[in-house]
Amino acid sequence: MSKKNTEVKYDCSKCPGYCCSYPRIIVTKEDIERLAGHFNVSFDEAKKRFTQAYRYESKEEKIKEQILRHRKDDVYKSTCQFLDPVKRRCTVYQARPAVCREYPNGKTCGYYQFLKFERKQQGDKEFIPSA
Ligand code: SF4
Ligand code: SF4
Repeated sequence: MSKKNTEVKYDCSKCPGYCCSYPRIIVTKEDIERLAGHFNVSFDEAKKRFTQAYRYESKEEKIKEQILRHRKDDVYKSTCQFLDPVKRRCTVYQARPAVCREYPNGKTCGYYQFLKFERKQQGDKEFIPSA
């Protein structure tokens, strides 16, 4: 008998991984260390292969971040390179960054609600709205 998950109100198995298409998925030093261990490469190699620097400066703010590298995607414009483009699953799940573990930071996911609503409207369980 399957047990209904009452903890969260979203189902990532029915979503093509919208959150993995966010352009700036921030990684920490610990995240890079974890990825380096997962792939058995040095910290510097992991940093170079899997991440890139993001810099932005305006009068109001100055941003300096290290983010996951992206690649082109057929569903969204691009996604994190660790998202399986066919299965739509994280290929480094055990070693994924902290920000991915925390998301969506609650019992609900805004995109999943949007997805569910649009699929109901369209009468198509597979429909993927442009975000
Ligand atoms: S956008 Fe929401 S439902 Fe989709 S994979 Fe991310 S957390 Fe799961
Ligand atoms: S590391 Fe995994 S969960 Fe995080 S953005 Fe990439 S594919 Fe998604």
